[in-house]
Amino acid sequence: MPRPAPADAEVRRAVAPVIAYPDDSLPAPDLPLYRAAMAGARKVDEVRIPPREGRCFRVPRGQLFRILSVEGPQVGDLNLWNAADLSERFYSGKTRALHGTHLTAGDRMWSAFPHLRPMATIVEDTLDWYGTDAYGGRVHDVIGTRCDPYTHALLSEGGAYHHCCHSNLTRALAAETGLSPAEAEGHVHDVLNVFMCTGFTRETGQYFMKASPVRPGDHLDFFAEIDLLGALSACPGGDCSAEHSSDAAACHPLVVQVFEPADGALAGWTPPERNAYDRSHGA
Ligand SMILES: [Zn+2]
Repeated sequence: MPRPAPADAEVRRAVAPVIAYPDDSLPAPDLPLYRAAMAGARKVDEVRIPPREGRCFRVPRGQLFRILSVEGPQVGDLNLWNAADLSERFYSGKTRALHGTHLTAGDRMWSAFPHLRPMATIVEDTLDWYGTDAYGGRVHDVIGTRCDPYTHALLSEGGAYHHCCHSNLTRALAAETGLSPAEAEGHVHDVLNVFMCTGFTRETGQYFMKASPVRPGDHLDFFAEIDLLGALSACPGGDCSAEHSSDAAACHPLVVQVFEPADGALAGWTPPERNAYDRSHGA
């Protein structure tokens, strides 16, 4: 039972919130430039991610990549690293603080400390029409972490399941880099949940998921701000309408396509520098 509320409880609750990181204090990406670059780009690579598996892909800075829904509704779990330095990786928590719980066009995927710079910018989101549904659900979250065999072991009596996104990403990174699975696992991090529809229940604040509205042909396009190594898992949850961490859900492949802009299409763009803080921490 919660304790009795103090006399001024309603006054305290009525204080209006302030946005922690207002949008207008972040340098805005040049979306028209990126979109024009994509419009004139040619496809230079394509990677197909089988259901319940993960695959890596590489995107040089200044190129774009598309995560494409094919065959049926399917959620993807995305990790990004600096291709030359695995210690610079996507920072889900700070990205959430800067842009909110779910990402769309114009938002960026930021790298971890001490780098804290944009790794990729979302250029196009064909599910941007979805907005917020009656349950508070939105698409492409940075609040879930990734399905994993440890939480599965914690919550169920079933045996080990090896095709959670965490394990799929681990195997994909190991195969790409030559690291052992145990070494690769340490580089796998909280994801961008591509196409996943999620939120928090208003009454209890619990994390929920529901059937993704994604359909074949839908895509999320990104501009690579730095040289990227990416890994994408086609979640064993399929459209995440019921459960994950098992082979019960209908699952479909995902496709990653890499595009190279035409010469001169990025005139005026410069890659982001590492963060300007000197790392002395006042010591
Ligand atoms: Zn998953």
